[in-house]
Amino acid sequence: MNAPGNPLPKIDFIDLKSQYAALRSDINARIQRVLDHGQYIMGPEVAESEAKLAAFAGTKHCITVASGTEALLIALMALDLKPGDEVITSPFTFAATAEVIVLLGGVPVFVDINPATCNIDHRLIEPRITPRTRAIMPVSLYGQVADMDEINAIAARHGNIPVIEDAAQSFGARYRAGRSCGLSTIGCTSFFPSKPLGCYGDGGALFTNDDAIAKAAREIRVHGQSARYTHTRVGVGGRMDTLQCAVILGKLARFDWELQRRREIGARYHALLAHTDVELLTVRDDRDCVWGQYTVFVEDRTKVQERLQAMGVPTAVHYPRPLHRQVAYQSYAAEGDCLLSDIAAARVMSLPMSADLTEDQQDHVVEALIYALK
Ligand SMILES: *Cc1c(COP(=O)(O)O)cnc(C)c1O
Repeated sequence: MNAPGNPLPKIDFIDLKSQYAALRSDINARIQRVLDHGQYIMGPEVAESEAKLAAFAGTKHCITVASGTEALLIALMALDLKPGDEVITSPFTFAATAEVIVLLGGVPVFVDINPATCNIDHRLIEPRITPRTRAIMPVSLYGQVADMDEINAIAARHGNIPVIEDAAQSFGARYRAGRSCGLSTIGCTSFFPSKPLGCYGDGGALFTNDDAIAKAAREIRVHGQSARYTHTRVGVGGRMDTLQCAVILGKLARFDWELQRRREIGARYHALLAHTDVELLTVRDDRDCVWGQYTVFVEDRTKVQERLQAMGVPTAVHYPRPLHRQVAYQSYAAEGDCLLSDIAAARVMSLPMSADLTEDQQDHVVEALIYALK
């Protein structure tokens, strides 16, 4: 086979420029309105976006916060995590998931993944529950919801352990009758620009149906204030600013279309790569994947990435080293823990993915990948 022919204009790993071009006048008008009313912190767009986001996720409450990391931190603070408390989570994730546990003096308990989905293997959770287990924090990696029903059932059997979904990559994903962020005690997402729903800076949100948790999270977000200058608990400076909420409101107009495009592009990648040497992620029948990253498994990844780069196809690795192998977190794992995460980390590679990826671009990516594998 020959090298794929005419090089296309450079393909972005994530195409945010086309998205902005499509939404430009509305987003600009929304930003202008914030500049005109001048309520940069906790302006009306904050409550407006929270109402729309809660309706979207199907929860009673949404609390916007400064980032996805802050959402996870505030979730654990709202549950009153104490030093020495254990939180069961996956090591195959972005560092923020375990970072917030350790920041509060908690102990991350790493449970290995199911290699078919790269989400935590729910069958391995129960043996790791102890009297100190204070939360279970599955990650809905790559945009596919973790096995929430099974995890919720385990949590219920052990005295209703709170479950926090790290849904930074899966906002909008469907799971049985529900949606990501509305499936557990607390759902946390990120509006980092490259996530399925991104703003133009940092942002994030917590979702819950629990009134007491929502109240606690709202207070923690503003330095633990129950009223102005009344600090009833220790909090953080964790607000999402009004301008970023205005951007989210603009992006929501097109979000259903984008989710549909992501599903279609993911399904098309799956079909085009089905009979190649690339191994594909399994998407379970009872849920969809919104492909926060479109990730595949390859052998000899460095070589494949270099060849793709030379053909104008950017790739990324989510994630090259699981957290139980990171200097900051390795003391929480024993030798031989989470071997399937190690294997996945050595083989995963993410391809360009965004709602605006064209069929021509996708064909080029696939042809280049098949060529690079030879
Ligand atoms: C992006 C991400 C986060 C952190 O979100 P930020 O908004 O960047 O703080 C946490 N967990 C996972 C799985 C992520 O992908």
